[in-house]
Amino acid sequence: QLKEELTELDKKHFIHPTSNMKQLQEEGPSFIFTEGDGIYLKDMEGRTLMDSLSSLWNVNIGHGRKELGEAAKAQMEKLAFTSTFSNWSHEPAIRLAAEVAKWTPGDLNATFFTSGGSEANDTAFKTVRHYWKLKGHPEKKKIISRKKSYHGVAMGSTSATGIPEFHTFTESIAPDFYYVDSTIESLKELIEKEGADSIAAFISEPVQGSGGVNLPSEGYFEEVRKICDKHHILLISDEVICGFGRTGTHFGMENFGIIPDIITMAKGVTSGYAPLGGMIISEKLHQEIYEKAEGNFWHGYTYSGHPTAAAVALKNLEIIKNENLIDNVNRMGEEMLKGFKWIQEQNKQVIDVRGIGLLGAISIDRKSADVAPVGPKVVAEALKRGLICRSVVYDGQDTLAFAPPFVINKKQMDEMITIVDESIRA
Ligand code: PLP
Repeated sequence: QLKEELTELDKKHFIHPTSNMKQLQEEGPSFIFTEGDGIYLKDMEGRTLMDSLSSLWNVNIGHGRKELGEAAKAQMEKLAFTSTFSNWSHEPAIRLAAEVAKWTPGDLNATFFTSGGSEANDTAFKTVRHYWKLKGHPEKKKIISRKKSYHGVAMGSTSATGIPEFHTFTESIAPDFYYVDSTIESLKELIEKEGADSIAAFISEPVQGSGGVNLPSEGYFEEVRKICDKHHILLISDEVICGFGRTGTHFGMENFGIIPDIITMAKGVTSGYAPLGGMIISEKLHQEIYEKAEGNFWHGYTYSGHPTAAAVALKNLEIIKNENLIDNVNRMGEEMLKGFKWIQEQNKQVIDVRGIGLLGAISIDRKSADVAPVGPKVVAEALKRGLICRSVVYDGQDTLAFAPPFVINKKQMDEMITIVDESIRA
């Protein structure tokens, strides 16, 4: 009865993000979740389901960690909120900014906080333009991103997103955003065509997440770094998914041995226990901005550096460190990839498997974009067997994406692989 009541209220009042509104109106929500514990979620029907995407690639330490609730409670009771605008500050935001600097490579040591990844990327786009303007190059404002990239849904971040579906919603894509194929040639061609003196920055995820868990080709980012240096184009690494351990290193770009000028982050910094994101910039950028700027950095969100969210992030990062969870990401990542390869051997229609750390994918042969995708059917079969997983379908591709919590163990991984195999067969 409670479920029926909530279903009706949901249909009438609750607009879901990235949803099929018509289907929701007809069918109501498929799950009303009530609890989470480790890699599992429970819903109102009493189902226990393995959460193989860490919900939205973010519940990295797993569900139900009481310590985070305690950290939030303690901070809320003491100082739930005050501003960090202008010259106000407080300990949780200061400590978190300092802690983040310990995690980042190179001299990426100064953080501007947001509530999530979209805001972090919009902040980065404004910051790079601000930077070039201060340096006497106001014409350097174009932002280049890669096709199949996902950078969020604020005006700038949706414009940088290279998945065309996200542009159909409003068609009001901001000017000065350009997309390249994931090849060096494509990037070079665009720079040649547009002129380096009009380009502010290149943004990329180390491993594209929402676009289908796409790993870069060998040597790609090393070359990108060189090109950006040569043409005075700032390199932004969108580490919203990859950051804080997901790919087995602190940040995803470390796998490719390069250091970006700017990192944007969100998700894993709090494992989703509180909304928080940010833009981390190099010391060089930080210094040039504060030395050259006169007047305000005219950018800030009410919740930039939210004390409760910051306290939660600090506790989350402490857990990842103290429990050596990134070691487990590497161990279980190997198991996951081994399992995917075994699945590929068993199933002819699996055309590719890939993974890095606990971020992986299985691609199914869809023959052509006109043929109905298989992924959503696999997802439905997996659900019957107690596993929630995600299908990525666009542009003719048919992929299953996985990003289980860092705390997954071998037995659970074997179970996940078995269910995925059975579901593909079914
Ligand atoms: N960047 C990447 C790589 C993401 O995966 C996401 C979200 O999935 C975002 C940015 C946007 O973050 P948010 O949804 O917190 O605004």
